[in-house]
Amino acid sequence: MDAAEIISCQFCGRYVFPFPGWGTYLQPYRFMRAVWEPEHRFFCGSLHFQCLREFEHRQAFRQEFGEIALTWGGEFSVEVHGEVHRMQRAGMGFINKIFHGERCVIHRNAHSDTWLVLEHDGPWYDLDAAQLEAIAEGRPLRSGDWAYKTVVPAECDRMALHASLPELLDQAGVLDLYEEALRTGDVEYEVFDYYPPKRILEYSVENVLPIPQEAYDFLREYARTYEPIDFDKLEENEEYL
Ligand SMILES: [Zn+2]
Repeated sequence: MDAAEIISCQFCGRYVFPFPGWGTYLQPYRFMRAVWEPEHRFFCGSLHFQCLREFEHRQAFRQEFGEIALTWGGEFSVEVHGEVHRMQRAGMGFINKIFHGERCVIHRNAHSDTWLVLEHDGPWYDLDAAQLEAIAEGRPLRSGDWAYKTVVPAECDRMALHASLPELLDQAGVLDLYEEALRTGDVEYEVFDYYPPKRILEYSVENVLPIPQEAYDFLREYARTYEPIDFDKLEENEEYL
């Protein structure tokens, strides 16, 4: 994959600016298959969540992603040049379902205090204990302050270091895909550095995550009552397994 492929949406082909809750990158090591295609090639790379929600095979995508996210993993088969091979893949371990709503499910991880909100239409959000605490207090669910790197499109080269986020997205021709994020996300955006030879932009972005309201409402109650994992107990028990 060259840079242009890495930063292009697997559905619409346009630039994906990595932005919590709105655009993401699916790692090749997940071994996700494009089960909606006859060849079942591996599916990885950047995607806009909005494009995923509009994708005609989003149910198949959701099913396959669920096989990875909501399990410990397992065996699967791939066909290469007419031969079927059995392979192993690791799951993410969000195996305990705690909520099933009209728009999403919520699963708890078996080995850490983390949760996954997975929309029936495909998009997903990882949450940690601090984020649940915010929800319990009725505060907005924010993404957390993470640093990111992206290769900006060539047309953004001269302005990437000093542009505001709306200016950057506009110049990249994808402002329409992030308009709602900018309007509702209470976005904090900071540029750290820009490396012109490779057009690498280093930045942080922090914003409100657009989880479904039903998930927020459920978690608001749940977050007050759940039992954190007792890691000492886990280890003790494992000695007797
Ligand atoms: Zn797209």
